[in-house]
Amino acid sequence: MTTGKVLLVGAGPGDPDLLTLKAMRAIETADVVVYDRLVSDEILNFIPAGTARICVGKRPGHHPVPQSEISRMLATLAGTNRLVVRLKGGDPFIFGRGCEEAIELKRAGIAYDVIPGITAAQGCAASARMPLTHRGLATGVRYVTGHCRANEPLDLDWASLADPDTTLVVYMGNANIDEIAHKLIAHGLPGETPTLAVCEGTTRREQRMCAPLARLPAMTRAANFSGPVLFIIGRVADIAAQQDGEGYAAIEDAMAVA
Ligand code: SAH
Repeated sequence: MTTGKVLLVGAGPGDPDLLTLKAMRAIETADVVVYDRLVSDEILNFIPAGTARICVGKRPGHHPVPQSEISRMLATLAGTNRLVVRLKGGDPFIFGRGCEEAIELKRAGIAYDVIPGITAAQGCAASARMPLTHRGLATGVRYVTGHCRANEPLDLDWASLADPDTTLVVYMGNANIDEIAHKLIAHGLPGETPTLAVCEGTTRREQRMCAPLARLPAMTRAANFSGPVLFIIGRVADIAAQQDGEGYAAIEDAMAVA
């Protein structure tokens, strides 16, 4: 008979000030915190000194704990602890495998709740002071994964993604950005479509770069990013490009035709 509970908690994109109050309270009251590689040190510093902490993420020279093992670990920990906090970067249910853990906990009969986090797309866009949707520029936004299994092509619906009216946000796309840019252009997205690449967005180490889609792969290669990278592709990215220079010309143009 278990009495513990697991909270699947989003830690946000990196800036500790972007944690929710609910996430903060969960961290402060947890008996044990199980966290991923993406959770920043600044946030881990909020874990009280006496609280047990377990890292299940990949570090250089170490292998990550397999997903099935993490789920089992959470169930076991909930059997002996009152409150287990499972801390994940961004939002736990956006490319976070949080739902796989939730399903396993449900199967094991363990109570759990979800505390959402600010996902990388929102954090990085806000850092660049650009919107993901804007009337006249983007009627919607899509979050996709740019990651695929080794030696397999990306399994994405390129024809529908190459839509100039929708902002495309690519998570985990750094290794495949050549193929992503090439396929989008091949399916009709103009090579001059504005793009923004953000590495370690919202942290003190943040790097941001803008380029037209056709030049995105070369720019990414040249940048040689070493942290997590997010790509934002679409007309709204022009607003990020203009922030430091000509102000809001892209928005003003869109408003003029709207
Ligand atoms: N659950 C997370 C995403 C996990 S997938 C979320 O909601 O944000 C991991 C990918 O997220 C990374 O490869 C990168 O594409 C993106 N990512 C996460 N944090 C980021 C950050 N601070 N800056 C840029 N990209 C980030």
